[in-house]
Amino acid sequence: MNRMLARLESSFGSLRRFTADARHELKTPLMVLRAGVERSMTNPQAPREVLASLEEVLEEIYRMSELVDNLLTLARADEGGITLAVETVDLRELVGEAAETAGILAEAPGLSVRCEVPPDPVMIAIDQSRIRQLLLNLVTNGIKYTPAGGKVSLGLVDQGDTVTLVVGDNGIGIPPTDLPHIFDRFYRVDTARSRTGARPGTGLGLAITKWIAEAHGGTITVQSRPGRGAVFTVILPKQPVRVAPPPSDATDL
Ligand code: ADP
Repeated sequence: MNRMLARLESSFGSLRRFTADARHELKTPLMVLRAGVERSMTNPQAPREVLASLEEVLEEIYRMSELVDNLLTLARADEGGITLAVETVDLRELVGEAAETAGILAEAPGLSVRCEVPPDPVMIAIDQSRIRQLLLNLVTNGIKYTPAGGKVSLGLVDQGDTVTLVVGDNGIGIPPTDLPHIFDRFYRVDTARSRTGARPGTGLGLAITKWIAEAHGGTITVQSRPGRGAVFTVILPKQPVRVAPPPSDATDL
């Protein structure tokens, strides 16, 4: 038993080292490349065709960086290396922020964004940056997979011990045969379309979104009909909101 535990410990150790090495080995060259290309683009003598090529290279570097970030997040999540920085916040604020970002992103493709939150604060113990990422992943997908003139909506419902977040759209939807797989890593419905085409992506966004929901003790589900849109529902437990005890010398104001 001891030998087995030692072996397990050493393999977890190597996995952790591998992730740390991969982070360094992959991120550093990407940063160097990005800085070099950005510097070359500021050269006033650069011909237009060269600038256009550099722009394409830069786009690829951004995509590659996003892929590396997403892969490393999932690798660290697998090895249990991510600790949530939990604090109690009013979830309406994060939903409002996501709606604002969605509004900006929706301008170019001509989509409308609606957001409904309850009138009272919805206090919940969460890792803000992770839940922000979850919301952004869902709204950016809603925008990406909804043709011009469509709608994207965000909703928040307080259910006492739990909250429900709903992100929906009336876009292209997801075929029934693909629905069970869309939270799988690298799964993309339309693989015929290139990863860099009209709807670029890596197929890792929903895998990360699911991990975030589950790391908070929550769930994520999807309902969709092709041509009708998709609705993602995230249910999160509020967990007891721990109110810090008042300082002992506090006086009633
Ligand atoms: P991607 O980077 O491809 O967007 P995701 O993991 O975020 O990766 O999503 C996986 C796949 O699920 C997408 O490629 C797309 O086919 C489908 N999908 C996700 N969100 C939506 C949506 N709102 N409407 C239609 N299809 C969606």
